[in-house]
Amino acid sequence: MPLLELAGLSAAYGAVQALKDLSLHVGEGEIVALLGSNGAGKSTTLRTISGLMKPKAGHVLFDGKDISGVHPETVVRLGIAHVPEGRRVFPGLTVKENILLGASNRSGLARRQMEAEVDEMFELFPDIRRFSGALGWTLSGGQQQMVAVARGLMSKPRLLLLDEPSLGLAPLIVQQVFRIIARIRERGTTVLLVEQNARTALSVADRGYVLETGRLVTEGKPDELWNNEEVRAAYLGGR
Ligand code: ATP
Repeated sequence: MPLLELAGLSAAYGAVQALKDLSLHVGEGEIVALLGSNGAGKSTTLRTISGLMKPKAGHVLFDGKDISGVHPETVVRLGIAHVPEGRRVFPGLTVKENILLGASNRSGLARRQMEAEVDEMFELFPDIRRFSGALGWTLSGGQQQMVAVARGLMSKPRLLLLDEPSLGLAPLIVQQVFRIIARIRERGTTVLLVEQNARTALSVADRGYVLETGRLVTEGKPDELWNNEEVRAAYLGGR
């Protein structure tokens, strides 16, 4: 049984049909990339999984349970963390405070345990450790991205939804973020990754799905997708 399964999912913003009969699955321990150009419906897919948007039709199954339309807070408690596009680090809170916010679903967590877990995040993201006390607004884009992912991981998710983690980052920092994504999976978290940067996403993913205007165009292993000239030219930016 896959950890996540979308079955015939449709979603709309008013009259704009953003997802049309989308079906896909993510197995436990996989990194799966969701690819496609602007407006393909990638972010909407993540929003529908995390409960920010209610599907018009179809189902979201997590660990075999139907979680379609469940409240976002409940979805976090069930083990899904969503790191949205644009990072959204709180500018007036310190790095540590921002990271700690991610554990707010785990009431009763002892202070010492919390400290240990923040420390674990600093091991995973060594570049932000020395900025622990710095305010959010002082961070670079790459550091903000790391704080946003660390905050997501503090909820101890089984499934991490990442929306465009490479957006606006310099190439070297993108490589660093993707190395961390590979490590996150090694630590036992399944990852569903939305990216416009198809090449980099496919370099860490086990499989990929390509969307266009809310529909699934094709799916496959990274080399199958990348070596398909038509798919690459039309949907993967050709680079
Ligand atoms: P991007 O990388 O640009 O976010 P995407 O593949 O994630 O692209 P979505 O953001 O899911 O695509 O958008 C899918 C469709 O839904 C597009 O036609 C988009 O214009 C529309 N859409 C997205 N958000 C809204 C919104 N808040 N209100 C109305 N329409 C929206």
